[in-house]
Amino acid sequence: MKNTYILKIYRGQPGHQYWEEFELPHTPYANVISALMEIQRKPINRQGVKVEPVVWDAGCLEEVCGSCSMLVNGKPRQACTALIDALLEQTKGEPILLAPFSKFPLVRDLIVDRTSMFENLKKAHAWIDVDGSYDRGAGPKISQEKQEVMYALSTCITCGCCIEACPQMNKASKFVGPQIISQVRLFNDHPTGAMQKKERLDPMLEEGGISDCGNAQNCEKVCPKEIPLLDSIAAISRDASLHALKKLFSFKDRE
Ligand code: SF4
Ligand code: SF4
Repeated sequence: MKNTYILKIYRGQPGHQYWEEFELPHTPYANVISALMEIQRKPINRQGVKVEPVVWDAGCLEEVCGSCSMLVNGKPRQACTALIDALLEQTKGEPILLAPFSKFPLVRDLIVDRTSMFENLKKAHAWIDVDGSYDRGAGPKISQEKQEVMYALSTCITCGCCIEACPQMNKASKFVGPQIISQVRLFNDHPTGAMQKKERLDPMLEEGGISDCGNAQNCEKVCPKEIPLLDSIAAISRDASLHALKKLFSFKDRE
């Protein structure tokens, strides 16, 4: 193992992005965030020129908040769990590449604006309404089997990796993306949440809804929480079709 390694960062502002290299001392157990902190302390590029420090987003540093998502060696993932030694093994000692996500508006360097994901959660009514803070007694029972599925869906950290990997997503696309579809499944599966099933399935039938999924299946492969996104897409596809038929024949919704 050499004493130093190279971080090659795609940085800049909208309309002016460029690659810049930094040579950093090799530190055992370092992750991408600590390497970026090293650049922040000493923002001198490989040519020896003092530059603006690289900026990035980070919060919890334990793969829970989803804010340090970026492309690491071309793969969407969290920078906090990307260990430098493992990445150097991947690149066989060649530079480690960092770039901002490409499916969200760029703010600067490695920071993008992920507001669209939160706006789509609002559009899909991804919550359960509460009509008071008083004690209403025990909630409805949920089978162990269903709880296990719902728990997996509830671990989504809104990191955006699935959206970055999805070929159907681009700046012009209205597709809500796999993460939202999975949250619709989570809240519709809950016996109380099911009361607003219609409000969640309606947006799934609109432009940008479930029919925009091309079934390329990239999303599930990159999800850091291993959420079964393809099962969610299949489940909501089924529910949305049934919902559309009911609307078409004006059946009374008895769900
Ligand atoms: S299955 Fe493919 S098209 Fe559908 S959401 Fe996942 S990556 Fe996108
Ligand atoms: S579904 Fe997975 S990849 Fe997509 S936003 Fe949630 S945690 Fe991230």
